Amino acid sequence: MEKIKVAIQKSGRLSEQSIGLLKEAGISLTNGERRLVSLASNFPLEILYLRDDDIPQYVADNVADIGIVGENVILEKDYPVDTILKLGFGKCRLSLAIPKTEEYASASYFNGKKIATSYPGILKKFLDSKSIDAEIHVISGSVEIAPGIGLADAIFDIVSSGSTLISNGLKEVEVVAGSEAVIIANDQMTPAKKKILEKLLFRIKAVQAAKSNKYILLNAPNENLDSIIATIPGMKSPTVMPLAEPGWSSVHSVLKENEFWEIIDKLKDLGAQGILVIPIEKMIV
Ligand code: ATP
Ligand code: ZN
Repeated sequence: MEKIKVAIQKSGRLSEQSIGLLKEAGISLTNGERRLVSLASNFPLEILYLRDDDIPQYVADNVADIGIVGENVILEKDYPVDTILKLGFGKCRLSLAIPKTEEYASASYFNGKKIATSYPGILKKFLDSKSIDAEIHVISGSVEIAPGIGLADAIFDIVSSGSTLISNGLKEVEVVAGSEAVIIANDQMTPAKKKILEKLLFRIKAVQAAKSNKYILLNAPNENLDSIIATIPGMKSPTVMPLAEPGWSSVHSVLKENEFWEIIDKLKDLGAQGILVIPIEKMIV
């Protein structure tokens, strides 16, 4: 039977959440994790564990059908793959940083400077777009130590918290691109594989929707029921049921995680009581 081959990072910052995502989508992996290959027991899917840098090429070459990788990796080279879904984890940015004692006014600072990076493609595009003439020095790891040892004047690298920069006496001066983990796909999948992919994406989207929403239950005094309902921007309209106690109703709905605190305050002001906010496991929208 046809199955879809998914390339994920073997071991690194994206591995755990990539496997976690597939598990939340209901996919059970047999014969242990972190081998070269593992097979799902309840879904037509096989996982290939690879170095993250190799994933786009494997997908482009049809060895894998889809892959989970950071946008930074696919931005670096033009691979013939489609980015089909952002996953919301592995968030970071690609930034230029210079020694913290340097004065910095604008990107023209980099004219005539030597910049160390593992991302020459993205950096060159940025420099060209600003007509800056700088020397790009490609190194594959520990980019952040380059200025300290006199190898370069500046670096262009992945930043997440910025603590690595600080501990190397550097400051971030330009954010060139943002990045997060994404699903990429070969652009010539067979119809049978496309069908499997659609099924997988449907599940993943349900997991994502559930994560960004909460289920809310509350007791509302009937005189404020209309205002309370207007405050809750639910999926469709909230469920309202009478409570045993006269003059009160129970209201059930779904809230976006990010609008949660603001709405809770308004609901309290309108006399809502017994407010319960509950995580949702899966949400089919
Ligand atoms: P591999 O052995 O697979 O080549 P790696 O060392 O190149 O691993 P990791 O450091 O595990 O890669 O990072 C994988 C991805 O995680 C990066 O390409 C990037 O998309 C993302 N990421 C998120 N935050 C950070 C960070 N602070 N530093 C590095 N990568 C990060
Ligand atoms: Zn890598």
